[in-house]
Amino acid sequence: MVIVGIDARSLSELQDWPWPRRYHADLINRIATAAPRRLFLDIDFSSRSNAEDDQLLESALATWKGEPVVLPAFYQQASASERRLLLTEPLPRLRRHAVLGSVNLLPSEDGLVRSMQTVWDVDGRQLPAAAALLHGLPQDSSDPRQWIDFTIDPASFRYLSFIDVLANGVSAEHFAGMTVFVGATAVELGDMIAVPLHQSLPGVVVQALAYETLRNGPPAKLRPPLYWLALSAAIVLLTFLFGRQSWQRNVLVTVLALAAVACVCLYSYTVLNTILPVVPAAIAIALAYLLSTLRSLQLETLRALSYALGFRKRDALLKSIVLSSSDCIVCIAATGKIMTANPAATALFACPARELQGCSIFEFLPSLADGRSGASRFGALSGDIAEYTARTKKGDEFPVELSLSRVRFREEELYTAIVRDISERKAQQHQLQFQATHDPLTTLPNRPALAARLDSVLAQRDAKHPVALMMIDLDRFKEVNDTLGHNVGDYVLYEVARRLQRIVGERGFIARIGGDEFALVVENFAGLSEISALSQELVDSLKRPVETCGIAIDVGLSVGIALYPQDAADAETLFKHSDVAMYVAKRSGSGSGFEYYDTASNRHSVRKLSILSRLRTAIAEDQLQLHYQPQVNLATGRVESVEALLRWEDASLGAVRPDEFVQLAETTDLNQSLCRWTLVRAFEQSVAWRRKALEVRIAINVSARVLQDVRFPRALADLMQEAGVSTEHFELEITESAMMLDPQRAGRVIRELSDAGIMISVDDYGTGYSSLAYLRDLAVHSLKLDKSFVMNMQQHDHDRVIVESTAQMARALNLKVVAEGVETGADAVMLRDAGYDYGQGYWYSPALPPQELANWVRKFNATASPPDVRRLSL
Ligand code: C2E
Ligand code: CA
Ligand code: CA
Repeated sequence: MVIVGIDARSLSELQDWPWPRRYHADLINRIATAAPRRLFLDIDFSSRSNAEDDQLLESALATWKGEPVVLPAFYQQASASERRLLLTEPLPRLRRHAVLGSVNLLPSEDGLVRSMQTVWDVDGRQLPAAAALLHGLPQDSSDPRQWIDFTIDPASFRYLSFIDVLANGVSAEHFAGMTVFVGATAVELGDMIAVPLHQSLPGVVVQALAYETLRNGPPAKLRPPLYWLALSAAIVLLTFLFGRQSWQRNVLVTVLALAAVACVCLYSYTVLNTILPVVPAAIAIALAYLLSTLRSLQLETLRALSYALGFRKRDALLKSIVLSSSDCIVCIAATGKIMTANPAATALFACPARELQGCSIFEFLPSLADGRSGASRFGALSGDIAEYTARTKKGDEFPVELSLSRVRFREEELYTAIVRDISERKAQQHQLQFQATHDPLTTLPNRPALAARLDSVLAQRDAKHPVALMMIDLDRFKEVNDTLGHNVGDYVLYEVARRLQRIVGERGFIARIGGDEFALVVENFAGLSEISALSQELVDSLKRPVETCGIAIDVGLSVGIALYPQDAADAETLFKHSDVAMYVAKRSGSGSGFEYYDTASNRHSVRKLSILSRLRTAIAEDQLQLHYQPQVNLATGRVESVEALLRWEDASLGAVRPDEFVQLAETTDLNQSLCRWTLVRAFEQSVAWRRKALEVRIAINVSARVLQDVRFPRALADLMQEAGVSTEHFELEITESAMMLDPQRAGRVIRELSDAGIMISVDDYGTGYSSLAYLRDLAVHSLKLDKSFVMNMQQHDHDRVIVESTAQMARALNLKVVAEGVETGADAVMLRDAGYDYGQGYWYSPALPPQELANWVRKFNATASPPDVRRLSL
C-alpha cells in the first residue's frame, strides 16, 4: 500500500489551489505506468471544474487498466434542519469510469472515530465503504460495523509526495501490485479526523488504516464461553482472595487485578490481535471486591448482632439467677443505702421490696456498722465471708453468713452483699457439738467435755480457791446389766443421772465418763463440810431403789473425792486420785459412802493397781499356779478330795496372797478370766490324775461374783465337756457371805448347778449369817466351817460349841461337814468325835504343787488309819 499525499510541499510547489484536474489526470497516468493493483483517489470530484480539465481526468480514468479506480462518495445531511441524508458523488462523467466507495466515518459519542461501516444502506441503495471495496467486500454483512485497528502504526505506510510523483513519475518497483491511496495529508487542507491513540489523522490515512485493518483480518474476539469461563475462574479466585484479607489489602488487589486485566487486554489486542472485553472484567473485579467486602461486612454485622443477642441472653440469665436465688442478694451504696434487692432479700428480712429499697443495710445488719466510713468499712470487708447476726424488720434476730464484694458501676462505688440464713446450719452445728460433748443416754456431758471443763477450771484456780473432783461409781450395776439386760441397765443409768443432776443443779459440773461412772467438778465451795454434805446427798439419792417394769432395783454409789491443788497438781493426777478415793470408798464395804483421797490409801492403791495390771498378764501368760491341799476323811483316814488353791509368784511383786488378788480381781473384768483359768486348770489336773490312777475329787473355789451371772451354769457345763470331767470329779466352794450378797439371784444359780448334779460346798461357814432354812432350800452338798472356829475351839468354849452344833445341825439337814484349819492331831480327833466328815489343815499338809501332792496322797493313803490311831503312832 502506498499513500500519495497532497502534502504541504506539494501545495507550496503547485501554487494554484484548488488544483486544476489535469494534475490529477497526470498523476493517474503516471501511476498507471507502474501497474499498481488498485487506485483510490480520496479527492472530492463532485463539482464541475473547467471542461478541459474534467475531460483530461475522465480520459485518464477511462484509460486506466485493471480494477477500476475507486472514487469517494459520502452521505451528508441535506441541510442543518433536515435530517435526510444526501449522497455526494463524483461527476457522472467521472463516475462512469470508476467505482464508488463511501468515505463516511461515524465518530463515537466522544467524537473519536473508532470504526467504519463496511456497507451503507440508505434509501434502498447499498454503498460499500472505500476500504471494504479495495479489500473485497465482506461476505457476511450481518455486522456492517468494523473496528479500525489504530494500533497499526501509520508511519509504517509508504508515503510519496504528490509533487514528487508528478515531477519524477513512479518506479514500478514501488507501485507494481500495490493499492495506492491518494488524498490530502496537509493539515491546512482540513481533512483531519479525530481518532484514538493518534489524536487526529488525515482522512486518507484513516482510510488506509481501515483498509489495512481489513487486510489483517479483523481483530479476533475471544470465544464467549472461554472468556466467561476464564472470567468466572478469576472472580472465584479473587473472591477467595478477598475473603481472606482486610479490605485495605483487597483494594490493592483490586487495583492490581484491574491493571493486570488492562495489560492482558492490551497485550492480546496488540500482539494477538484479539479483543478482550476489558469492561466486563473490570466490572466483575470491582463487583467481586464489593461483594466480598459486603459479605465480610455482613459477617461482621451478624457477629455483632449475635454477640449482642448473646449478651442480652446472658444478661437475662444473670437477672433470672439473681431473681430466683435462694440467697439474698442486696446491692448497697458506700453509705449503706440499699439500692436494690432480690425477692429472697424481702423474704429474709421480712420487709416488702419497696420499703427495703432506700433503707440502710445497718437496719438489718446492725453489726456491720462500726463507726468507720462506708467505703473503708465495706472495702475492708469485701472479699471475705463472715458470720453476723441479722434482724428482720420486726426485730427477730437470726445468724447469717455474709459475703461482700465491690463493684464499679458507672463511676459509682457499689457493693453486693450475698446474705444467707444459716440458722439451720448453726442448729446442726450446735447439735453436732452437743453430740460430741454429751452422752446420748443421759444427755449429761461426756468424758472429753469434763476433761475440757476441768482444764479450763484448773487454769483459773489456786490454793485459795480449790476445786473438788468427785468420782462417782455405781455399786452392783454390773449385776443389774448382766441379769436384767441392757435395757433395764440403760434405764437405771438414765434415772441415776437424773437424780444426780437434780441434786447437783448449779453447784457443779456433772458428767458421765464411763459405763457406770460419773464425775462431778465443784468449783465454789465454802469448805469440806459442804463437799461432804453434797456427797452424802448424792449417796442418799440412791437409797430409794430405781423402779422399772415392776422391779425395784437397789443400786448404791461410792464417791471418791480429790482436791486441787492439795491432792494433785494437774487434771490427770486429780482424776487418778479421786479414782483411788472412790476405790477406797467401795472397799470400805459397809454399803455406799464417800471417801476423801489420802496419801496412805494411795500407797496401797498403787500396789493394787499394779497387782491388777500384772495379774492381767499373769493370766494371759499362764504364770499362775494351782496348789492342792488334801481333805482327809476322818472316819477312814484316807484322802478322797483336795482343795485347789491359787498361787502366784510375781517377778516384781513377789508372792501375792490369793485372797488379796482374788478380791481385787472381783472388782474388775479380770474376775471372769481368772475364774475360767482356775476351772480349766483344775479340770486338766483332774483328768491327768485319773490317768495316773489317782482318784481324788477337786474342790474348786469360785468367786461370789459368778453367782450373780446367770450364764455361769451353761459356761461351766461347756468347760466340763471340753475337759472331759463329770460332776463326781469336782465340787465348787462358794463362800457363805457371797451367797448372802443377793440371796435370791445366788440361790437361782446354785439351784441350777445342784440340779445339774454339781456338788456345792458352803465355804467359810459361820461368817455369813445364813439361815438354815435357806441352806436347806439351796440343796448344797456340804458345809465347810470357817477355820477361825476350828483354830480356836481348844481355847474358847463358845467356838467349840459352834463347831459341835454346826456338825449336829448339818447332820440333821443331811449335809456333809468339813473342818478347815486342822492344825493339830487333837483337833482332828475332836472333829471326828464331833461328827465331822472331813478335815483339812496344816496338821495333814499345806497346799502342795500337783506332783508333790500326788506323791503325798499315795503315801498317805497306803498307811491310812483313823485319827486316833495316827495320834498314837505320833
Ligand atoms: P479359803 O477358801 O478359806 O482357803 C483356805 C485357806 O486356809 C487357804 O489359804 C489355806 O492355805 C489356809 N489353810 C489351810 N489349812 C490351814 C491351817 O491349818 N491353818 C491356817 N491358818 N490356814 C490354813 P490361802 O491359800 O492363802 O487362800 C486364802 C483364800 O484365798 C482362800 O480361802 C480363798 O478364799 C481364796 N482362794 C484361794 N484360791 C482360790 C481360788 O482358786 N479361787 C477363789 N475364788 N478363791 C481362792
Ligand atoms: Ca475354800
Ligand atoms: Ca475357807
